[in-house]
Amino acid sequence: MPLLRRLAMLAATIAAPLVAQERYPTAWDPAHLNRPDVRAALAHIEAGLPAQVDEWIRIAQMPGQPGHEQVRGAYVKAEMEKLGLRVSVDSIGNVTGRRAGTGGGPTIVFAAHLDIVFPTETNTTVRRNGDTLHAPGIFDNSASVANMLATIRALNAARIVTKGDLVFVGTVQEEVGLRGMDYWLKHNARPDLLIAMDGGLGPVNYGALGIYWTRYRYKAAGSHTLYSRGRPTPVRALADAIQRIYALQPPPLPSGAVINIGQVHGGVIFNGIPQDLYFTVDLRSPDPALLDSLDRAITRVAQESAEREGVELVVEVEQKNGAGGTEAMLAGARRHPLVQTAIDIQRQLGVRMGMPGASEALATGSTDANVGVVMGIPSISIGRSYGANQHTLTEWAHWPSAAEGTKLTLLLATTFGDGIRVLPPRVTP
Ligand SMILES: [Zn+2]
Repeated sequence: MPLLRRLAMLAATIAAPLVAQERYPTAWDPAHLNRPDVRAALAHIEAGLPAQVDEWIRIAQMPGQPGHEQVRGAYVKAEMEKLGLRVSVDSIGNVTGRRAGTGGGPTIVFAAHLDIVFPTETNTTVRRNGDTLHAPGIFDNSASVANMLATIRALNAARIVTKGDLVFVGTVQEEVGLRGMDYWLKHNARPDLLIAMDGGLGPVNYGALGIYWTRYRYKAAGSHTLYSRGRPTPVRALADAIQRIYALQPPPLPSGAVINIGQVHGGVIFNGIPQDLYFTVDLRSPDPALLDSLDRAITRVAQESAEREGVELVVEVEQKNGAGGTEAMLAGARRHPLVQTAIDIQRQLGVRMGMPGASEALATGSTDANVGVVMGIPSISIGRSYGANQHTLTEWAHWPSAAEGTKLTLLLATTFGDGIRVLPPRVTP
């Protein structure tokens, strides 16, 4: 063998990755793009983008405080009805539009939350600047609501027929504990796939970070300062509990946990023992067993501090969103073709990760998909567009990339609409 060729082969061997990356099952076949109806639908998304952006802006300017999504819900309901879906609104406010299949295929739920974190009085007037849109809630999650409607329009325009039912849900109260999705999954038949449309374009999330919010309230009889010496005070109980909670030190995320005390409130006057104080705990972990054991440990600490001091403890649970499991626990979920198919479609569309070299699949998540992950339903969350500063007044979104977010949604619907099939490995010549 000539020396040059031998050297070239050696270089190729060295360049090959040392650790073989696991190949995950996928249903994506680039030949899918040759289907005339799929091509027509993608062309419809491209052509419809200016109208989609106008609608997105209109939606973003509607009030969307959690629990007050009625205007957005009514709008989505009316549009879905115009598009021929079978629409219903449940008692919590979720708007469900079913695009019936011909039968024998999977039921796929696409969920976009209608609510935004901001109260109704927030100014959500959208400012357009080149290829960006600026307003609180423009990105999270008004973008996905517009993407969802644009997906349905493209499916209809291209007369796409699926065997399975495509179920589009505008969920409520996502921002205050995924309440709408939780309610929906408890009151509807279990879907085969759940796709939450939420988050920036980039990694596909297939896990669920568990989040528990709890308020620990201490109560006592109180007293004037002059008679306070030696009397039980909720201040000492609270201070003692907080010190001991910070000393718990669980292993860190991503597979461990984080504990944060976000609020300490109480007392109204200088000259007396307060009668009522509280602190709040935000506890997060992907590991359900660790989450529950820490929750019990924190409550035990709070109770012991109350008993030492001789004051009353009231535990108020604000929200309990279950954990999906650590990356190791979710190895099976990662192998479901839903995850790799979404990644492969993103690659096909040229979607960029947030940071170069960032993982394309994350075993965590904080979206409506969490509820499905915890229930064992194959669930992912996918991005809407590029953008940043969610949950702040400087939130912005890059509108041209909403076309990619919409195409991704559409291609997931057309790829899985007739069945959840895994492709045989492609032989590359
Ligand atoms: Zn969101």
